[in-house]
Amino acid sequence: MKLGIFGGTFGPVHLGHIRAAHAFLNECALDRLYILPTAIPPHKAASAQDQPGDRLNMLHLAFSQPEYADDRITVSDYEQTRGGKSYTILTLEHFAKESDDITLLCGTDMFLTLERWYRGEDILRMADICCLYRDADPASALAVAEAAARYRAAYGTHVILPSYTPLVISSTEIRARIANQQSTEGLLPSAVRSYIDEHGLYRV
Ligand code: ATP
Repeated sequence: MKLGIFGGTFGPVHLGHIRAAHAFLNECALDRLYILPTAIPPHKAASAQDQPGDRLNMLHLAFSQPEYADDRITVSDYEQTRGGKSYTILTLEHFAKESDDITLLCGTDMFLTLERWYRGEDILRMADICCLYRDADPASALAVAEAAARYRAAYGTHVILPSYTPLVISSTEIRARIANQQSTEGLLPSAVRSYIDEHGLYRV
């Protein structure tokens, strides 16, 4: 069974994440894709603007919308239930009980820092890595190609770099737009935008 792992803060989940998840499913011919919001993200300060449960709820809402749903996708609370810092290697070791054919999805920003993650070398030895571009900057493409070559040479990592037209969206931009009462048209699933408004998230 070919299993995909897509972890992140998802505060909130946006259309860039959703398109990346679908590209990942298809480019890597996954049988199952787990999408996991962090409890405490290792790379970021915890946010006072949402709770882990909000980020999980928004992912459930997004991937329940008929246009984004797929039977192969499971939104998992595993990292939040485990608690503590959401180290990816611990998640990979957990899901390795289900399959030894695991691919991890990373956007370019995360791909370039993988070696510095907690037990990064173990991640690079254990999982295949699918990297999707977040922007169309040739400098990013060069940096990704160099890192992919280094990972392959040093750890034998199988790196998958599909050709992918990026959707340049970030949760940071969305939070700023909401705080400034600007439109989020074309950036968020409608059910996620409704949840944000009902719960008063990201207003400051
Ligand atoms: P923030 O702006 O708060 O840092 P973010 O938009 O980068 O958030 P994360 O939840 O940190 O979103 O990202 C989770 C994963 O999704 C990371 O691997 C990241 O690189 C990837 N990702 C985020 N946005 C995109 C996008 N627009 N296209 C492709 N991958 C993305």
